[in-house]
Amino acid sequence: MSLLADLVAIDSVNPSLVAGGAGEAGVVGCLEAFFRKAGIDTVRDEVAPGRPNLVAVVEGRRPGPTLVYCGHTDTVGVEGMAQPFVPVPRDGRLYGRGTGDMKGGLAAACGAAARTAGRGLARGRLVVAAVVDEEFASLGAEAFVREWRADAAVVLEPTDLRVAIAHKGFVLAEILTTGRAAHGSRPDEGRDAIFRMGRVLAALEQHGRALEAGTPHPRLGVPSVHASTVHGGREWSTYPARCLLQLERRTLPGETADAVMAAFERLLAVLRSDDGEFEAETRLVMARAAYEIDERAEIVQALLGVAAGSAGARGRDAHGPVGLTFWTDAAILGGAGIPSVIFGPVGGGYHSTEEWVDLGSVETTEAALVTLAGRYLEGETA
Ligand SMILES: [Zn+2]
Repeated sequence: MSLLADLVAIDSVNPSLVAGGAGEAGVVGCLEAFFRKAGIDTVRDEVAPGRPNLVAVVEGRRPGPTLVYCGHTDTVGVEGMAQPFVPVPRDGRLYGRGTGDMKGGLAAACGAAARTAGRGLARGRLVVAAVVDEEFASLGAEAFVREWRADAAVVLEPTDLRVAIAHKGFVLAEILTTGRAAHGSRPDEGRDAIFRMGRVLAALEQHGRALEAGTPHPRLGVPSVHASTVHGGREWSTYPARCLLQLERRTLPGETADAVMAAFERLLAVLRSDDGEFEAETRLVMARAAYEIDERAEIVQALLGVAAGSAGARGRDAHGPVGLTFWTDAAILGGAGIPSVIFGPVGGGYHSTEEWVDLGSVETTEAALVTLAGRYLEGETA
């Protein structure tokens, strides 16, 4: 079986995301065996109990730059899938949990490292970083950048073979409105926290429209806000004392969590000034920065050149540079000073019950990574 099919056959559901998830250790064992066979040294770093990063290093004969190929080993949950860990090939695709997001890209990176080691690297250092926990808190990428320095990185998320140089960030926040519980027959005593949340929701919707009307980022469009969950109320005949909204704001490069939270605060201040009794508070739960790298950066130009020349090339423009809607570990690598791009296979159904990756595109990705390692590390011009 191919490395990709082997990886898909091993449950690596993120245990922080799904209680009882298997975690990444099984997949890491499989990768270690693969690298051992390829004669490549690996370092295992236990990021959390039973959740190791694996870093594989192909050393060149002469010192030079370090290039990282980074992929995450965890997957989201498998609810609703009959046989999530049975890789099924059909019509040139491989189906199964994690095929597209992102064991396809990870397998391509490992394959590229094996081929590079096999022919011998003249200069520099090629590193494969298989990191844990991308689908939750990115503990793996954060641990990796604490230990390792590099001159450039490619994050192997599925991009349909396009070179991505930007993606949005996000802010997860809560807004709590407070009322006063009372019997439903006593409007003089009761204060309705859910009605109060209604005002917050209307204000947020308007805030969202204002965001949409802003100047779009050339590759990422406009920022957005949406209500994720709302909880409040106890029973028919009681005024609800509290209502909790969880919401998400997707951000553009340059937008900070502080600025996002300040905008929420301003919106609540307006509601307070309209109604002296109005009570609400906000809380930041988690934030991840957006990411962007200059199109002229060396790694971007090198990968654009490689992608345009790969099998199935559809002309230079078809390969980007593009922006992505979803967040990736590139924001963490980039934030740590490693110029990073995102590039990976063609796939679909990520996080859904029918996930797949196009097998030809996994091969194309692997070949592109071999060429990129040569050009970037050894200065080859193909
Ligand atoms: Zn992913």
